[in-house]
Amino acid sequence: MLLKNHSHKSRKVATKVKNTHNQEEYRCAIPLVPVWPKYFSKWNPQRSIYDCSYVKNLTELKNNKIVKILRDPNVSCCLHEVIRGKKDSIYTLTECTPLLNDIEDVGEREILLVKCNNHTNFHTNIPIKPAVQEKIKYWEGISDEEKPFSVFILGIDTVSRSHAYRSLTKSIKLMEELDFIDFQAYHSVGPSTLSNLMAMLIGLPRAKVRGTCAKDWVTPFDSCPFIWKNFSETNYVTGYVEDGSQSFNWGGQSGFVNQPTDYYLHHLFLSLARTRGNIRKNFIKNPKHYTAECITHERVPEFLLRYSIRWLEKFANTPHFFLSWFAYPFHDDIYSLANFDEYIARFFEFLKSEASLLRKSVVIFVSDHGDRMNFFNSKSFESYFERGLPFFQIRLPDQMKENYPDIIEAIQLNTRKLTTPFDIHHTLLHVLSLNTNLDRSSKHFEPERKDRCSLFVDMPSNRTCASTNIPLTKCLCNAQYDKNSKGTSKISPGFANELLAFSVSNLNMKVLKFKYSQLCSKWNSSSADIIYTRYISQTKAFSELLIAFKANPGKAKFEARLKITKSAGAFINKTFTELVGFSRINKFGEQSWCIPEETDEDKEMKELCWCKI
Ligand SMILES: [Zn+2]
Repeated sequence: MLLKNHSHKSRKVATKVKNTHNQEEYRCAIPLVPVWPKYFSKWNPQRSIYDCSYVKNLTELKNNKIVKILRDPNVSCCLHEVIRGKKDSIYTLTECTPLLNDIEDVGEREILLVKCNNHTNFHTNIPIKPAVQEKIKYWEGISDEEKPFSVFILGIDTVSRSHAYRSLTKSIKLMEELDFIDFQAYHSVGPSTLSNLMAMLIGLPRAKVRGTCAKDWVTPFDSCPFIWKNFSETNYVTGYVEDGSQSFNWGGQSGFVNQPTDYYLHHLFLSLARTRGNIRKNFIKNPKHYTAECITHERVPEFLLRYSIRWLEKFANTPHFFLSWFAYPFHDDIYSLANFDEYIARFFEFLKSEASLLRKSVVIFVSDHGDRMNFFNSKSFESYFERGLPFFQIRLPDQMKENYPDIIEAIQLNTRKLTTPFDIHHTLLHVLSLNTNLDRSSKHFEPERKDRCSLFVDMPSNRTCASTNIPLTKCLCNAQYDKNSKGTSKISPGFANELLAFSVSNLNMKVLKFKYSQLCSKWNSSSADIIYTRYISQTKAFSELLIAFKANPGKAKFEARLKITKSAGAFINKTFTELVGFSRINKFGEQSWCIPEETDEDKEMKELCWCKI
């Protein structure tokens, strides 16, 4: 059952892989979950279409000039430049200068806000800044073949592998044509964006980041060893763009004091949100109020994709590292991805036509985790699998295929092995180390380390969650997905009640150990509150299972993962039952308002606390 392929496409991918191992030989086999579980009978992307056409496009940026499109003398326009302040949360606007003769050369200005009567249009220029000019100069006289490999990462938040296959049919077809390699056992290292981005971009587990470079929730991330620093030191032009405050600025964090990469658009989105008003909550009532998500009449994801294409066109022949991270609207609205397939496919069409990128660029398309509590409801067993198995594909540059046939052979052997964002981080270091003719000798690079491994070498088959920084409570190694299983019926009601009592008592104990425990209410559940019980895996020695349940006050929903040693039979007692961990599986909103958000522990406990005061 573990080898069951879930779609025609994935079967095709699997046969293309020169895999000499059987899945069973791996210490960790990852189940292939279906693209279309029964749950999706109500799949309806239409409901998630949003429209920015009501934002009037009164100006355009063309050949480095802002041009007024509407030749109406009653409409007068002026131009602000949006300038980044001393840190991520600060920006200033220059005085609004009139757009004389309806046209203005923007010169070196990067982010522009044009006001025409009551309308606002944003435009983004890509000027060659002095530091970038220096980098370009460094590569002068070096032939394209001698230049090192570039990296482009397209990241979309909250996309499981199954979700990508059901939403991005056109894009995935193009990716197959472009020889992207599909990693079928790519596993997230935590349920949050932050844990996965820290692993991929910093190469450190979240606890280690807190212990070192960003000691608490509000400390800026400037001291952290982001991978783009390694590239920048080697004269790569760097860019990191995301739509708003999504990762290192999310939830009151401080982002960066100094701009982290040569190109960085955080202040564009800040000024967009402040100018138009972030009235996200009104979207459900009236989509027309969702104005902060429109750049002009171009929607935010379209804008970022087009910006990425423009950026790559500009720096196609200069070694570069570019990360484009999309969260809106994909994080909160699982239907929306299908509506952008067309636009994402355009990016791959562009890639197909850009010979220099095909030859020189490592292209990664990746997500951080699957949908956690927005679309999948708490009764859906599939959500447990999708949350932990994000989408990840990589395309290697044609020159790498010619120069390093061993890499091509090795990477194909890894597509079904357990992989994590730490492996992507290590692979990026490997990319840098390959450029031996530029004084970066690969002999000092260790492709395999204890908890991570470059994808460019044959990875060990005995990797486990414990050995790769994956929390055991989320671990999907050897988990059994059985679409026909009516999990609950396999477990007797009496046994389920014992599991519930064990779980709730552990939940209360966990809350009691928390420093703010006196603020939190005690949780209560009765047998009627069991949502489901399901076996995750069963071996001769032990069983692991999930129990999802409601708890009061506050109609909270939790999922506990338990491990039961087999000799315990059907009896639950402390000797034989172990709590692996808890997840909150519904939104908790303001229920935990009394817990501050100072530490990662606070963040974790917010999910488990109902404020009684
Ligand atoms: Zn995320």
